[in-house]
Amino acid sequence: MADPLILVLDEGTTSTRAMLFTAAGELRGTAQRELTQHYPQPGWVEHDASEIWARTLACAREMVEQAGGAERIAAIGITNQRETVVAWHRETGEPLARAIVWQDRRTADFCLTLRSGGHEDAVRDATGLLLDPYFSATKMRWLLDNEPAVARAAREGRLAFGTVESWLVFKLTEGAVHASDAGNASRTLLLALTGTSWDEGLCGLFGVPRDALPEVVDSAGTFGRTTLFGPAIAITGLAGDQQAATVGQGCLAPGATKATYGTGAFVLANMGRAVPRSHHRLLGTVLYQLGGERCYALEGSVFVAGSLIQWLRDSLQMIVRADESEALARSVEDSAGVVVVPALSGLGAPHWRPDARGAITGLSFAATRAHVVRAALEAISHQTQDLAAAFAADGAAWTELRIDGGMSGNDWLAQDIADLVDLAVVRPDFVETTALGAAMLAAVGAGLHRSLEEASAAMIGGARRFEPRMAQPVREARLAAWSEALAKV
Ligand code: ADP
Repeated sequence: MADPLILVLDEGTTSTRAMLFTAAGELRGTAQRELTQHYPQPGWVEHDASEIWARTLACAREMVEQAGGAERIAAIGITNQRETVVAWHRETGEPLARAIVWQDRRTADFCLTLRSGGHEDAVRDATGLLLDPYFSATKMRWLLDNEPAVARAAREGRLAFGTVESWLVFKLTEGAVHASDAGNASRTLLLALTGTSWDEGLCGLFGVPRDALPEVVDSAGTFGRTTLFGPAIAITGLAGDQQAATVGQGCLAPGATKATYGTGAFVLANMGRAVPRSHHRLLGTVLYQLGGERCYALEGSVFVAGSLIQWLRDSLQMIVRADESEALARSVEDSAGVVVVPALSGLGAPHWRPDARGAITGLSFAATRAHVVRAALEAISHQTQDLAAAFAADGAAWTELRIDGGMSGNDWLAQDIADLVDLAVVRPDFVETTALGAAMLAAVGAGLHRSLEEASAAMIGGARRFEPRMAQPVREARLAAWSEALAKV
Protein backbone atom coordinates (compact mmCIF):
# COMPACT_ATOMS: atom_id res chain seq x y z
CA MET A 1 0.00 0.00 0.00
CA ALA A 2 1.22 3.49 -0.85
CA ASP A 3 1.92 6.03 1.91
CA PRO A 4 -1.14 6.91 3.97
CA LEU A 5 -2.20 10.50 3.34
CA ILE A 6 -3.56 13.16 5.67
CA LEU A 7 -6.24 15.52 4.40
CA VAL A 8 -6.01 18.95 6.00
CA LEU A 9 -8.91 21.39 5.83
CA ASP A 10 -7.54 24.88 6.43
CA GLU A 11 -10.38 27.35 6.97
CA GLY A 12 -8.96 30.83 6.69
CA THR A 13 -10.78 34.14 6.83
CA THR A 14 -10.47 34.94 3.15
CA SER A 15 -10.27 31.44 1.69
CA THR A 16 -10.74 27.78 2.40
CA ARG A 17 -8.17 25.19 1.39
CA ALA A 18 -7.79 21.45 1.37
CA MET A 19 -4.27 20.00 1.37
CA LEU A 20 -2.75 16.53 1.24
CA PHE A 21 0.24 15.62 3.39
CA THR A 22 2.20 12.43 3.87
CA ALA A 23 3.13 11.27 7.38
CA ALA A 24 6.65 12.53 6.52
CA GLY A 25 5.29 16.07 6.19
CA GLU A 26 5.49 16.27 2.39
CA LEU A 27 2.81 18.37 0.73
CA ARG A 28 1.14 16.40 -2.08
CA GLY A 29 -1.63 18.75 -3.19
CA THR A 30 -3.62 21.91 -2.53
CA ALA A 31 -7.07 23.10 -3.57
CA GLN A 32 -8.31 26.54 -2.67
CA ARG A 33 -11.54 28.59 -2.95
CA GLU A 34 -12.15 32.21 -1.92
CA LEU A 35 -14.76 32.98 0.75
CA THR A 36 -17.21 35.87 0.37
CA GLN A 37 -16.79 38.62 2.97
CA HIS A 38 -20.06 40.31 3.96
CA TYR A 39 -19.84 43.80 5.49
CA PRO A 40 -23.47 44.74 6.21
CA GLN A 41 -22.52 47.74 8.41
CA PRO A 42 -19.29 49.46 9.45
CA GLY A 43 -17.51 47.21 11.94
CA TRP A 44 -19.60 44.15 11.01
CA VAL A 45 -18.02 41.16 9.25
CA GLU A 46 -20.02 38.06 8.33
CA HIS A 47 -19.55 34.78 6.48
CA ASP A 48 -22.14 32.50 4.97
CA ALA A 49 -21.66 29.19 6.81
CA SER A 50 -23.31 27.27 3.94
CA GLU A 51 -20.74 28.72 1.59
CA ILE A 52 -17.91 27.75 3.96
CA TRP A 53 -19.21 24.19 3.96
CA ALA A 54 -19.88 24.00 0.21
CA ARG A 55 -16.43 25.35 -0.70
CA THR A 56 -14.70 23.16 1.87
CA LEU A 57 -16.47 20.13 0.46
CA ALA A 58 -15.49 21.09 -3.09
CA CYS A 59 -11.81 21.49 -2.12
CA ALA A 60 -11.86 18.24 -0.13
CA ARG A 61 -13.43 16.32 -3.04
CA GLU A 62 -10.70 17.61 -5.34
CA MET A 63 -8.00 16.36 -2.97
CA VAL A 64 -9.69 12.99 -2.35
CA GLU A 65 -9.80 12.48 -6.11
CA GLN A 66 -6.16 13.47 -6.45
CA ALA A 67 -5.26 11.03 -3.66
CA GLY A 68 -6.90 8.22 -5.61
CA GLY A 69 -9.95 7.78 -3.37
CA ALA A 70 -11.01 7.97 0.28
CA GLU A 71 -9.29 4.64 1.04
CA ARG A 72 -5.92 6.37 0.49
CA ILE A 73 -6.64 8.92 3.23
CA ALA A 74 -5.82 7.86 6.76
CA ALA A 75 -7.03 10.93 8.61
CA ILE A 76 -8.54 14.40 8.42
CA GLY A 77 -7.11 17.37 10.32
CA ILE A 78 -8.99 20.66 10.57
CA THR A 79 -7.56 24.09 11.34
CA ASN A 80 -9.64 27.23 11.32
CA GLN A 81 -10.07 30.97 11.75
CA ARG A 82 -10.69 31.22 15.47
CA GLU A 83 -13.53 32.85 17.46
CA THR A 84 -15.94 33.09 14.49
CA VAL A 85 -19.40 31.87 15.54
CA VAL A 86 -21.78 29.69 13.54
CA ALA A 87 -25.36 29.01 14.71
CA TRP A 88 -27.25 26.11 13.13
CA HIS A 89 -30.26 23.87 13.63
CA ARG A 90 -29.36 20.52 15.15
CA GLU A 91 -31.95 18.57 13.17
CA THR A 92 -31.80 20.17 9.75
CA GLY A 93 -28.08 21.00 9.89
CA GLU A 94 -28.89 24.38 8.30
CA PRO A 95 -27.33 27.67 9.46
CA LEU A 96 -29.80 29.94 11.30
CA ALA A 97 -27.98 33.20 10.55
CA ARG A 98 -24.79 34.46 8.99
CA ALA A 99 -21.63 33.52 10.88
CA ILE A 100 -20.17 36.44 12.86
CA VAL A 101 -16.46 36.69 12.05
CA TRP A 102 -13.71 37.27 14.63
CA GLN A 103 -13.03 40.78 13.25
CA ASP A 104 -16.62 41.90 13.92
CA ARG A 105 -16.94 44.72 16.49
CA ARG A 106 -20.77 44.86 16.86
CA THR A 107 -20.66 43.71 20.48
CA ALA A 108 -18.32 46.49 21.65
CA ASP A 109 -21.09 48.12 23.72
CA PHE A 110 -22.04 44.84 25.39
CA CYS A 111 -18.36 44.34 26.29
CA LEU A 112 -18.24 47.86 27.70
CA THR A 113 -21.35 47.20 29.81
CA LEU A 114 -19.80 44.04 31.23
CA ARG A 115 -16.56 45.90 31.89
CA SER A 116 -18.35 48.74 33.65
CA GLY A 117 -20.17 46.07 35.65
CA GLY A 118 -16.77 45.09 37.04
CA HIS A 119 -16.64 41.66 35.39
CA GLU A 120 -13.34 41.91 33.53
CA ASP A 121 -10.99 40.73 36.29
CA ALA A 122 -13.00 37.60 37.03
CA VAL A 123 -13.40 36.80 33.33
CA ARG A 124 -9.67 37.29 32.71
CA ASP A 125 -8.68 35.17 35.71
CA ALA A 126 -10.94 32.34 34.56
CA THR A 127 -10.41 32.39 30.80
CA GLY A 128 -7.10 34.19 30.22
CA LEU A 129 -8.95 36.53 27.80
CA LEU A 130 -10.27 40.10 27.92
CA LEU A 131 -13.78 41.47 27.48
CA ASP A 132 -13.43 42.26 23.81
CA PRO A 133 -15.82 41.68 20.86
CA TYR A 134 -13.07 39.58 19.26
CA PHE A 135 -14.00 36.51 21.35
CA SER A 136 -17.05 34.31 20.67
CA ALA A 137 -19.41 34.60 23.66
CA THR A 138 -20.74 38.09 23.02
CA LYS A 139 -21.31 37.18 19.36
CA MET A 140 -23.42 34.18 20.47
CA ARG A 141 -25.41 36.44 22.75
CA TRP A 142 -25.95 38.92 19.92
CA LEU A 143 -27.34 36.16 17.69
CA LEU A 144 -29.75 35.05 20.45
CA ASP A 145 -30.93 38.63 20.96
CA ASN A 146 -31.20 39.68 17.31
CA GLU A 147 -31.87 36.64 15.14
CA PRO A 148 -35.38 35.25 15.74
CA ALA A 149 -34.50 31.89 14.16
CA VAL A 150 -31.62 31.48 16.61
CA ALA A 151 -33.80 32.42 19.60
CA ARG A 152 -36.55 30.05 18.45
CA ALA A 153 -34.14 27.13 18.01
CA ALA A 154 -32.76 27.85 21.48
CA ARG A 155 -36.26 27.74 23.02
CA GLU A 156 -36.95 24.45 21.26
CA GLY A 157 -33.63 22.95 22.37
CA ARG A 158 -32.53 22.61 18.73
CA LEU A 159 -29.80 25.26 18.65
CA ALA A 160 -26.18 24.34 17.96
CA PHE A 161 -23.44 26.93 18.38
CA GLY A 162 -19.87 26.32 17.36
CA THR A 163 -16.69 27.80 15.98
CA VAL A 164 -15.79 26.89 12.41
CA GLU A 165 -14.05 23.54 13.13
CA SER A 166 -17.14 22.50 15.08
CA TRP A 167 -19.42 23.38 12.16
CA LEU A 168 -17.27 21.34 9.77
CA VAL A 169 -17.14 18.32 12.08
CA PHE A 170 -20.95 18.43 12.33
CA LYS A 171 -21.34 18.60 8.54
CA LEU A 172 -18.65 15.98 7.81
CA THR A 173 -20.27 13.53 10.25
CA GLU A 174 -23.75 14.40 8.90
CA GLY A 175 -24.90 15.64 12.29
CA ALA A 176 -23.52 12.77 14.36
CA VAL A 177 -20.85 14.79 16.19
CA HIS A 178 -20.95 18.25 17.78
CA ALA A 179 -17.46 18.82 19.17
CA SER A 180 -14.86 21.57 19.62
CA ASP A 181 -11.24 21.08 20.65
CA ALA A 182 -10.13 22.69 23.90
CA GLY A 183 -7.90 25.16 22.04
CA ASN A 184 -10.75 26.56 19.97
CA ALA A 185 -13.06 26.39 23.00
CA SER A 186 -10.58 28.48 24.98
CA ARG A 187 -11.25 31.43 22.61
CA THR A 188 -14.95 31.69 23.40
CA LEU A 189 -14.82 33.26 26.93
CA LEU A 190 -16.98 30.30 28.06
CA LEU A 191 -14.24 27.81 28.99
CA ALA A 192 -12.12 28.34 32.09
CA LEU A 193 -8.44 27.60 31.43
CA THR A 194 -8.57 24.89 34.11
CA GLY A 195 -12.16 23.71 33.50
CA THR A 196 -12.75 20.47 31.63
CA SER A 197 -15.98 21.74 30.12
CA TRP A 198 -18.06 24.90 29.68
CA ASP A 199 -18.25 27.08 32.74
CA GLU A 200 -21.78 27.51 34.20
CA GLY A 201 -20.96 30.93 35.63
CA LEU A 202 -19.54 32.26 32.36
CA CYS A 203 -22.44 30.83 30.32
CA GLY A 204 -24.75 32.64 32.76
CA LEU A 205 -22.84 35.92 32.54
CA PHE A 206 -22.97 35.98 28.74
CA GLY A 207 -26.45 34.44 28.54
CA VAL A 208 -25.41 31.51 26.36
CA PRO A 209 -27.33 28.22 26.87
CA ARG A 210 -24.84 25.51 27.75
CA ASP A 211 -26.82 22.82 25.90
CA ALA A 212 -26.27 24.65 22.58
CA LEU A 213 -22.50 24.26 22.90
CA PRO A 214 -20.36 21.41 21.53
CA GLU A 215 -18.60 18.77 23.56
CA VAL A 216 -15.06 19.92 24.46
CA VAL A 217 -12.57 17.36 23.14
CA ASP A 218 -8.80 16.82 22.75
CA SER A 219 -6.83 18.26 19.83
CA ALA A 220 -5.89 14.78 18.55
CA GLY A 221 -7.94 11.58 18.76
CA THR A 222 -10.82 10.02 16.86
CA PHE A 223 -13.64 12.54 16.95
CA GLY A 224 -15.88 11.11 14.27
CA ARG A 225 -15.90 9.64 10.78
CA THR A 226 -17.06 10.91 7.43
CA THR A 227 -18.43 8.73 4.67
CA LEU A 228 -19.05 11.63 2.29
CA PHE A 229 -16.05 10.70 0.12
CA GLY A 230 -16.46 6.90 0.05
CA PRO A 231 -15.12 4.52 2.73
CA ALA A 232 -15.07 6.15 6.19
CA ILE A 233 -12.26 8.58 6.99
CA ALA A 234 -11.59 9.45 10.63
CA ILE A 235 -11.38 13.08 11.77
CA THR A 236 -8.39 13.01 14.10
CA GLY A 237 -6.95 16.52 14.50
CA LEU A 238 -8.55 19.87 15.42
CA ALA A 239 -6.84 23.20 16.14
CA GLY A 240 -7.36 26.92 15.70
CA ASP A 241 -5.02 28.46 13.14
CA GLN A 242 -2.55 30.09 15.55
CA GLN A 243 -2.45 26.98 17.74
CA ALA A 244 -1.84 24.82 14.66
CA ALA A 245 0.96 27.11 13.46
CA THR A 246 2.62 26.88 16.89
CA VAL A 247 2.56 23.08 16.65
CA GLY A 248 3.65 23.22 12.99
CA GLN A 249 6.64 25.34 14.04
CA GLY A 250 7.58 22.59 16.48
CA CYS A 251 7.09 24.86 19.53
CA LEU A 252 6.41 21.86 21.75
CA ALA A 253 8.62 22.65 24.74
CA PRO A 254 7.90 25.37 27.30
CA GLY A 255 9.44 28.66 26.16
CA ALA A 256 9.37 27.84 22.44
CA THR A 257 7.77 30.79 20.64
CA LYS A 258 6.50 31.55 17.14
CA ALA A 259 5.41 34.74 15.44
CA THR A 260 3.18 34.73 12.35
CA TYR A 261 3.47 37.89 10.25
CA GLY A 262 0.46 38.21 7.98
CA THR A 263 -2.05 41.06 7.91
CA GLY A 264 -1.45 41.34 11.66
CA ALA A 265 1.11 39.48 13.77
CA PHE A 266 0.36 36.72 16.27
CA VAL A 267 2.91 35.55 18.80
CA LEU A 268 2.35 32.40 20.88
CA ALA A 269 4.75 31.02 23.47
CA ASN A 270 4.41 27.46 24.74
CA MET A 271 3.89 27.55 28.54
CA GLY A 272 3.69 23.79 29.08
CA ARG A 273 1.43 22.71 31.94
CA ALA A 274 1.65 26.09 33.68
CA VAL A 275 -1.68 27.96 33.48
CA PRO A 276 -0.67 31.33 32.01
CA ARG A 277 -1.55 34.41 34.06
CA SER A 278 -0.45 37.59 32.32
CA HIS A 279 0.15 40.83 34.18
CA HIS A 280 0.98 42.62 30.94
CA ARG A 281 -2.23 42.24 28.97
CA LEU A 282 -1.16 39.17 27.05
CA LEU A 283 -3.74 36.41 26.65
CA GLY A 284 -3.67 33.00 28.25
CA THR A 285 -4.97 30.25 26.01
CA VAL A 286 -5.01 26.48 25.50
CA LEU A 287 -2.35 25.47 22.96
CA TYR A 288 -3.56 21.86 22.70
CA GLN A 289 -5.08 19.10 24.78
CA LEU A 290 -3.98 15.46 24.52
CA GLY A 291 -5.41 12.66 26.66
CA GLY A 292 -7.26 15.31 28.67
CA GLU A 293 -3.96 17.05 29.60
CA ARG A 294 -3.59 20.64 28.52
CA CYS A 295 -0.57 22.45 27.21
CA TYR A 296 -1.03 26.22 27.50
CA ALA A 297 0.27 29.23 25.60
CA LEU A 298 0.69 32.91 26.21
CA GLU A 299 -0.44 34.98 23.23
CA GLY A 300 0.15 38.52 22.07
CA SER A 301 -1.19 40.03 18.88
CA VAL A 302 -0.31 43.12 16.95
CA PHE A 303 -3.12 44.43 14.72
CA VAL A 304 -0.98 45.98 12.01
CA ALA A 305 1.94 44.15 10.37
CA GLY A 306 1.64 43.26 6.66
CA SER A 307 -1.29 45.66 6.40
CA LEU A 308 1.19 48.52 7.01
CA ILE A 309 3.05 47.49 3.87
CA GLN A 310 -0.26 47.20 2.01
CA TRP A 311 -1.10 50.73 3.17
CA LEU A 312 2.25 52.06 1.88
CA ARG A 313 1.47 50.36 -1.40
CA ASP A 314 -2.24 51.10 -1.87
CA SER A 315 -2.91 54.33 0.03
CA LEU A 316 0.43 56.14 -0.13
CA GLN A 317 1.61 54.46 -3.34
CA MET A 318 5.19 54.50 -2.10
CA ILE A 319 5.77 50.99 -3.42
CA VAL A 320 4.21 48.89 -6.14
CA ARG A 321 4.74 45.46 -4.59
CA ALA A 322 5.11 44.39 -0.95
CA ASP A 323 8.45 42.68 -1.55
CA GLU A 324 9.92 45.90 -2.98
CA SER A 325 10.12 47.07 0.63
CA GLU A 326 13.14 44.80 1.13
CA ALA A 327 15.33 46.36 -1.57
CA LEU A 328 14.31 49.85 -0.46
CA ALA A 329 15.20 49.14 3.17
CA ARG A 330 18.58 47.81 2.09
CA SER A 331 19.23 50.85 -0.13
CA VAL A 332 19.78 53.16 2.86
CA GLU A 333 22.09 52.96 5.90
CA ASP A 334 19.32 53.71 8.40
CA SER A 335 15.91 55.39 8.55
CA ALA A 336 17.48 58.89 8.83
CA GLY A 337 15.67 59.40 12.12
CA VAL A 338 12.22 58.54 10.72
CA VAL A 339 10.03 56.42 13.01
CA VAL A 340 6.68 54.97 11.94
CA VAL A 341 4.19 54.11 14.71
CA PRO A 342 1.69 51.87 12.89
CA ALA A 343 -1.31 52.45 15.16
CA LEU A 344 -3.58 52.59 12.10
CA SER A 345 -6.32 50.73 13.95
CA GLY A 346 -5.17 51.35 17.50
CA LEU A 347 -2.39 49.48 19.26
CA GLY A 348 -2.73 45.83 20.27
CA ALA A 349 -0.67 43.91 22.84
CA PRO A 350 0.94 44.89 25.09
CA HIS A 351 -0.39 48.45 24.82
CA TRP A 352 -4.12 47.77 24.11
CA ARG A 353 -4.87 51.31 23.05
CA PRO A 354 -7.78 51.08 20.60
CA ASP A 355 -7.93 54.89 20.52
CA ALA A 356 -4.25 55.40 19.53
CA ARG A 357 -3.61 56.68 16.02
CA GLY A 358 -0.54 56.25 13.84
CA ALA A 359 2.32 58.68 13.40
CA ILE A 360 5.42 59.23 11.28
CA THR A 361 7.95 61.18 13.33
CA GLY A 362 11.50 62.47 12.84
CA LEU A 363 10.93 63.77 9.29
CA SER A 364 13.50 66.13 7.81
CA PHE A 365 14.45 67.12 4.22
CA ALA A 366 16.95 64.23 4.34
CA ALA A 367 14.08 61.72 4.50
CA THR A 368 13.26 59.85 1.29
CA ARG A 369 10.74 57.19 0.33
CA ALA A 370 13.37 54.55 1.15
CA HIS A 371 13.76 55.90 4.69
CA VAL A 372 10.01 55.85 5.31
CA VAL A 373 9.65 52.31 3.94
CA ARG A 374 12.62 51.18 6.04
CA ALA A 375 11.06 52.80 9.11
CA ALA A 376 7.81 50.93 8.40
CA LEU A 377 9.63 47.58 8.40
CA GLU A 378 11.57 48.64 11.50
CA ALA A 379 8.22 49.28 13.22
CA ILE A 380 7.37 45.58 12.82
CA SER A 381 10.59 44.70 14.65
CA HIS A 382 9.86 47.25 17.37
CA GLN A 383 6.36 45.91 17.94
CA THR A 384 7.88 42.43 18.19
CA GLN A 385 10.43 43.70 20.71
CA ASP A 386 7.64 45.28 22.81
CA LEU A 387 5.94 41.89 22.89
CA ALA A 388 9.23 40.20 23.78
CA ALA A 389 9.54 42.53 26.78
CA ALA A 390 5.95 41.82 27.87
CA PHE A 391 6.45 38.04 27.56
CA ALA A 392 9.69 38.29 29.57
CA ALA A 393 7.94 40.35 32.25
CA ASP A 394 5.29 37.61 32.43
CA GLY A 395 8.01 35.01 33.04
CA ALA A 396 7.99 33.69 29.48
CA ALA A 397 11.25 35.06 28.05
CA TRP A 398 11.85 33.85 24.50
CA THR A 399 14.96 31.83 23.74
CA GLU A 400 14.63 32.17 19.97
CA LEU A 401 11.77 33.23 17.72
CA ARG A 402 10.37 31.07 14.93
CA ILE A 403 8.67 33.13 12.26
CA ASP A 404 6.24 32.47 9.42
CA GLY A 405 3.47 34.21 7.45
CA GLY A 406 3.63 36.17 4.19
CA MET A 407 5.84 38.92 5.58
CA SER A 408 8.44 36.52 7.01
CA GLY A 409 9.75 36.02 3.47
CA ASN A 410 11.42 39.43 3.77
CA ASP A 411 15.06 38.58 4.69
CA TRP A 412 15.87 42.14 5.71
CA LEU A 413 12.97 42.16 8.13
CA ALA A 414 13.89 38.73 9.55
CA GLN A 415 17.40 40.02 10.27
CA ASP A 416 16.09 43.26 11.77
CA ILE A 417 13.76 41.34 14.09
CA ALA A 418 16.72 39.19 15.22
CA ASP A 419 18.74 42.36 15.83
CA LEU A 420 16.01 44.17 17.76
CA VAL A 421 14.86 41.30 19.97
CA ASP A 422 18.52 40.27 20.26
CA LEU A 423 17.73 36.59 19.68
CA ALA A 424 18.06 34.11 16.83
CA VAL A 425 15.13 34.21 14.41
CA VAL A 426 14.36 30.90 12.70
CA ARG A 427 12.33 30.65 9.49
CA PRO A 428 11.25 27.21 8.25
CA ASP A 429 11.81 26.44 4.57
CA PHE A 430 8.23 25.13 4.41
CA VAL A 431 6.12 28.10 5.44
CA GLU A 432 2.66 26.49 5.55
CA THR A 433 3.04 25.89 9.27
CA THR A 434 -0.69 26.13 10.07
CA ALA A 435 -1.62 23.31 7.71
CA LEU A 436 1.44 21.30 8.79
CA GLY A 437 0.45 21.65 12.46
CA ALA A 438 -3.04 20.36 11.68
CA ALA A 439 -1.48 17.46 9.75
CA MET A 440 0.78 16.67 12.74
CA LEU A 441 -2.17 16.60 15.16
CA ALA A 442 -4.20 14.45 12.76
CA ALA A 443 -1.23 12.07 12.32
CA VAL A 444 -0.96 11.66 16.09
CA GLY A 445 -4.74 11.24 16.41
CA ALA A 446 -4.66 8.51 13.75
CA GLY A 447 -1.69 6.74 15.34
CA LEU A 448 0.63 7.43 12.38
CA HIS A 449 3.01 8.98 14.95
CA ARG A 450 3.02 8.19 18.64
CA SER A 451 3.47 11.72 19.92
CA LEU A 452 3.70 15.31 18.73
CA GLU A 453 7.46 15.12 19.35
CA GLU A 454 7.69 12.14 17.03
CA ALA A 455 5.48 13.90 14.47
CA SER A 456 7.67 16.98 14.72
CA ALA A 457 10.87 14.98 14.12
CA ALA A 458 9.31 13.21 11.13
CA MET A 459 7.34 16.03 9.55
CA ILE A 460 9.16 19.34 10.11
CA GLY A 461 11.92 20.11 7.62
CA GLY A 462 14.86 22.51 7.52
CA ALA A 463 15.00 26.16 8.47
CA ARG A 464 17.13 29.26 8.00
CA ARG A 465 18.56 31.05 11.05
CA PHE A 466 19.13 34.79 11.39
CA GLU A 467 21.54 35.54 14.26
CA PRO A 468 21.53 38.97 15.94
CA ARG A 469 24.49 41.07 14.87
CA MET A 470 23.57 44.68 15.53
CA ALA A 471 25.99 46.71 17.66
CA GLN A 472 24.42 47.42 21.07
CA PRO A 473 24.69 51.24 20.86
CA VAL A 474 22.83 51.17 17.53
CA ARG A 475 20.15 48.93 19.01
CA GLU A 476 19.79 51.11 22.08
CA ALA A 477 19.41 54.24 19.95
CA ARG A 478 16.68 52.52 17.92
CA LEU A 479 14.82 51.44 21.07
CA ALA A 480 15.04 54.95 22.51
CA ALA A 481 13.73 56.57 19.32
CA TRP A 482 10.83 54.12 19.23
CA SER A 483 9.88 54.78 22.88
CA GLU A 484 9.95 58.49 22.21
CA ALA A 485 7.70 58.18 19.15
CA LEU A 486 5.29 55.83 20.99
CA ALA A 487 4.94 58.30 23.83
CA LYS A 488 3.63 60.86 21.34
CA VAL A 489 0.69 58.81 20.00
P1 ADP B 1 -2.83 36.79 5.74
O1 ADP B 1 -2.70 35.33 5.99
O2 ADP B 1 -3.07 37.60 6.98
O3 ADP B 1 -3.78 37.14 4.63
P2 ADP B 1 -0.17 36.55 4.54
O4 ADP B 1 0.50 35.63 5.50
O5 ADP B 1 -0.57 36.04 3.21
O6 ADP B 1 -1.39 37.31 5.22
O7 ADP B 1 0.81 37.81 4.34
C1 ADP B 1 0.50 38.84 3.48
C2 ADP B 1 0.94 40.16 4.07
O8 ADP B 1 2.37 40.23 4.11
C3 ADP B 1 0.47 41.33 3.24
O9 ADP B 1 -0.08 42.29 4.13
C4 ADP B 1 1.73 41.88 2.57
O10 ADP B 1 1.70 43.29 2.55
C5 ADP B 1 2.85 41.38 3.45
N1 ADP B 1 4.03 40.97 2.69
C6 ADP B 1 4.13 39.94 1.81
N2 ADP B 1 5.38 39.82 1.33
C7 ADP B 1 6.12 40.80 1.91
C8 ADP B 1 7.49 41.21 1.84
N3 ADP B 1 8.37 40.56 1.08
N4 ADP B 1 7.86 42.26 2.60
C9 ADP B 1 6.99 42.89 3.40
N5 ADP B 1 5.70 42.55 3.51
C10 ADP B 1 5.26 41.52 2.79
